[in-house]
Amino acid sequence: MTDSTLLVRTGTETEIAPGVFVLPDRRVNLVPNIGVVLGDEAALVVDTGMGPANGDVVLAEARRLAGSRRLLLTVTHFHPEHGYGASRFVDAARIVYNRRQAVELAESGEEFLELFRTFGPEVAAALEGVELMQPHDTYDGTTELDLGGRAVTLREEGGAHTAGDQVVIVDDAGVLFAGDLVENRFFPIVFGDVADGSAWIETLGRLERIGASIVVPGHGEVGGPELIEAFRSYLIDVRDSVTEHVASGEDVERIAAELGPEVRERYADWDNPEWVDFAIRNFHRTLAS
Ligand SMILES: [Zn+2]
Repeated sequence: MTDSTLLVRTGTETEIAPGVFVLPDRRVNLVPNIGVVLGDEAALVVDTGMGPANGDVVLAEARRLAGSRRLLLTVTHFHPEHGYGASRFVDAARIVYNRRQAVELAESGEEFLELFRTFGPEVAAALEGVELMQPHDTYDGTTELDLGGRAVTLREEGGAHTAGDQVVIVDDAGVLFAGDLVENRFFPIVFGDVADGSAWIETLGRLERIGASIVVPGHGEVGGPELIEAFRSYLIDVRDSVTEHVASGEDVERIAAELGPEVRERYADWDNPEWVDFAIRNFHRTLAS
């Protein structure tokens, strides 16, 4: 694991706003952007990377940046690359998730662990020794964490990518950690029974209204509000295209076969084009019923 591409790299943080750091994903699949937010007394870590080795790296990096501050950990959603290093934080940090995310982890965590283990030996190695950790604290709706001279808001935005999606808002710095609700030039993962493209469009409207000037996507380079707008436009584009095809009576296989290549062409510089068909099928499921 020590030379795995899936391992978060040490010493690579950028300070995107005063006291707000991101360990970048380097556009490597299954490596998320990780945040460390410093207050006067406490530091909040956002996401852990996938598996215990990443948890160790992220904890060490957080301690280096935080100095003597006490640590808090939150996770943007329950997916393995975002939260499955949390066991390493259990004695080092207070762990806070929204309640729906905690329930989703309890209900679907093992299933995702098994699924991800089928993604190849490097992913399986990264997941070796994973312990799924429930948080110390949960909340419903929103909660505010006082880091000392800086308040950070955790806000539930579930039902778009996963049931327990959460965003992290650093108000005084205009920073939004969006998790996988926003990616930079990666197609959104509208996967499984819970993900909902139409709800996702609504969610992105709410995220725009937060008015953050710096947006940290789950994957891809840090940017501004244009990242939210690009993601929203993409989902609206797919939804409207699926609507037209449904109106002309085509079945889902035909729609995916026709529309998939067109969409991939329109977003040629976005990565992971295999997710386009999932988005088409997700919109079809709701629009054709
Ligand atoms: Zn995800």
